[in-house]
Amino acid sequence: MGSAAAFHLARRGQRVLGLDRFTPPHAHGSSHGRTRIIREAYFEDPLYVPLVQRAYSLWRELEAQTGRALLTITGALMIGHEEGTLVAGARRSAVTHRLEYEMLTGHEVSARFPVLRPDADMVAVWEPGAGVLFPEACVDAHLGVARTHGATLRFDEPVTAWHADGAGVRIVTAAGEYRAGQLLLTAGAWIGALVPRMAQLLTIERQVVYWLAPRGDPARFDPSRCPIHLWETPTGRFFYGFGDFGDGVKVALHHAGAATDPDHVRRTVSDAETATIREYVRRFIPDADGLLRDASVCLYTNTPDEHFWIDRHPEHAQVLIASACSGHGFKFSPTIGEALAELLIDGRSHADLSRFVRR
Ligand SMILES: Cc1cc2nc3c(=O)[nH]c(=O)nc-3n(C[C@H](O)[C@H](O)[C@H](O)COP(=O)(O)OP(=O)(O)OC[C@H]3O[C@@H](n4cnc5c(N)ncnc54)[C@H](O)[C@@H]3O)c2cc1C
Repeated sequence: MGSAAAFHLARRGQRVLGLDRFTPPHAHGSSHGRTRIIREAYFEDPLYVPLVQRAYSLWRELEAQTGRALLTITGALMIGHEEGTLVAGARRSAVTHRLEYEMLTGHEVSARFPVLRPDADMVAVWEPGAGVLFPEACVDAHLGVARTHGATLRFDEPVTAWHADGAGVRIVTAAGEYRAGQLLLTAGAWIGALVPRMAQLLTIERQVVYWLAPRGDPARFDPSRCPIHLWETPTGRFFYGFGDFGDGVKVALHHAGAATDPDHVRRTVSDAETATIREYVRRFIPDADGLLRDASVCLYTNTPDEHFWIDRHPEHAQVLIASACSGHGFKFSPTIGEALAELLIDGRSHADLSRFVRR
C-alpha cells in the first residue's frame, strides 16, 4: 500500500518521503511469498469488483512503465458447495457485475483440470480472467517508479513516533525528525504501534504457506494447465493453491492461523502444521502431496469484519490510515494507492472506499 501510494503521490507532483523499518520488498510483513491471487468474482462482497477492475488496468500500466512481468492470467476456480460462502459469494459478484464466468460440476472440474479432485457434490465458479501477481516484483516496481517521479525513500528507518502539530505533522524516526503537511500510515501489521486505538480492534494472524513438489508428471501443474483454486471444505475451512511457477505447488489455509505480535512471530513451521495442510492436499489435490520444498510465514492484519480500514485519523485530519487488509488486500494496492493520493491531494477519491471508513 505504501509503495503504491508513494508512486501515485509522486506522479501527481507531491513532495514524498517514504519511510520503511525494513528494506522492501522484504519477508517480515504481509507482501512476500512469490505469488498473490487476483480475481474479480469476489466472494467477499461485490463492492470490491470495481476496485479490482481498476487494479487490473493499473497493474498493466505499471508493467508497461517498468517493462516487468507482474501479472499472469491463469483463471481461477472457486470450489465448494453451491450455497456456501465461497461459491455463492463469487457467483453473486459475477452476476451483479456481469462478469465472464461459468458454473462447473465437481466432475467437470476434474475433467478439465485432472489434478483437482472436488467431492462429487461440490461445484465451482470458473473465472477465466483471474490470475497471479508477483508481489516482490510489484512492490519493487512501485518503488522504482515512485523514485523516478521524485519520491525520496528511506529504508531501515523505523518511525518511532508522530505528533500532529498545527496543520502538519512531526515525524520521529530512529535516524531523525521530519516535518510534513500530511502523514499517510500504511504500516500493515505494525499499525497498532503507531495508532494505539487500532491495536485493540485488530488481530495479527500468523499464516503459513507451503510449496510441495508435485508427484508424477509436473507438467500437469504448469500454471497454463492448473489455474488458481480456492476451496471451501464441507467443514467450512478455506484453503487455496496455485500452479507450479518453478518452486513447487503453493498451498495454504486461509484464516487458520494463531494470533501473534508482529515483533515476535514464530517463523519456523512445525511438522504438525505441515501434516495439517497435507490432509487437505491429499483429499483435494493428491498429486501435489510430494516433498515439502519450502514454507514461509506471513501476516494477516484482520479487522473484525475482514473489510479494510482506510480512513482519516479520528482526531487529526492531516493523518490518513490505510491498513488492515485482512488477508486479501494485495491485488488492490494500485487502486488503493491511487485513491490515497486523491484523498491526500483532492480531499476525495474516485474509488468508493466508504465501506472502509471506521469512524
Ligand atoms: C500468506 C498470505 C497470502 C495472501 N494472499 C493474498 C492474495 O492471494 N491476494 C491478495 O490480494 N492479498 C493476499 N494477501 C494479503 C495481502 O498480501 C496484504 O493485504 C497486503 O500485502 C498488505 O500490504 P500492506 O502494505 O498493508 O502491508 P506490508 O506489505 O506488510 O507493509 C507494511 C510496511 O510497513 C512497514 N512498517 C511497519 N511499521 C513501520 C514503522 N514504524 N516505521 C516504518 N515502516 C514501518 C513494514 O516494514 C512494511 O514494509 C495475503 C497475505 C498473506 C500473509
